[in-house]
Amino acid sequence: MRIVVLAGGIGGARFLRGLKQAVPDDAAITVIGNTGDDIHLFGLKVCPDLDTVMYTLGGGINEEQGWGRTDETFHVKEELAAYGVGPEWFGLGDRDFATHIVRTQMLDAGYPLSAVTEALCERWKPGVRLIPMSDDRVETHVAVTLDGERRAVHFQEYWVKLRASVDAHAVVPVGAEQAKPAPGVLEAIAEADVILFPPSNPVVSVGTILAVPGIREAIAEAGVPVVGLSPIVGDAPVRGMADKVLAAVGVDSTAAAVAEHYGSGLLDGWLVDTVDAGAVERVEAAGIRCRAVPLMMSDLDATTRMACEALALAEEVRA
Ligand code: GDP
Ligand code: CA
Repeated sequence: MRIVVLAGGIGGARFLRGLKQAVPDDAAITVIGNTGDDIHLFGLKVCPDLDTVMYTLGGGINEEQGWGRTDETFHVKEELAAYGVGPEWFGLGDRDFATHIVRTQMLDAGYPLSAVTEALCERWKPGVRLIPMSDDRVETHVAVTLDGERRAVHFQEYWVKLRASVDAHAVVPVGAEQAKPAPGVLEAIAEADVILFPPSNPVVSVGTILAVPGIREAIAEAGVPVVGLSPIVGDAPVRGMADKVLAAVGVDSTAAAVAEHYGSGLLDGWLVDTVDAGAVERVEAAGIRCRAVPLMMSDLDATTRMACEALALAEEVRA
């Protein structure tokens, strides 16, 4: 079985852990990772979502935080701050720095991000094939009003520095229109038996991947079941700022509204949490098969059951 997953950071990575547990050993999982969150800091290229997937599946993640390295120290950051060199709001640890140094060195030597990611994964052995959505630079910007003035900030500035404390007027994946899918992305989609949208952010994670020309079309035309899991439970994101960025694209923070936002042209099946069982009828009315099952990734067993439900729904819509 060949499974393709479109993943952001924490929600995607945690789901993938359950999916790996749920499938037979010979299943091949290809993860198309969001790179719209990427940022250049201290001359280094940082890819937060790719690294979250790599560290989580490779056993190097800080479990409590959900991002960054386990056993981390912050000496480099403190030394940079002593020189007055920021930004101080982005927490890069010493171990994490090494990943960004290796990545940046390889990029400077001319390797595309997809090749660099493959090289980094040789160390972490995530047990999936992790491909960035594109080798081209895409950067998600968020339009906000600060001190009465409307301006665009990098997604990381919106989320990490501003803590999503102000409304997002618009979310723009800058560069997406000119970006090409990375080598292997369209091939993996064309060869997939099933395509899954984990409970990742529908706007700034999955939405950004779908904004790369060719990816949405390839998924719609793949002719295989496409099943998603709602990141919205009880009309709110489980964590993060999905409500803010959904509002920016005119979508309510409900499991049903997110399914309709993806639409029946893309989605064949949609899982909502049991607390949102009332949404099933509305989603099905939109032409998307829907089931209500527990969707809290509280531990590996619960997450594995979610992955099993997603695969079962895929078989149901295939039949
Ligand atoms: P990010 O890049 O780190 O923000 O991670 P993702 O985009 O992959 O996932 C973020 C989304 O995961 C958020 O919208 C959360 O609501 C959702 N999420 C996190 N934990 C859970 C969970 O246990 N269950 C569900 N259903 N969604 C979750
Ligand atoms: Ca992210």
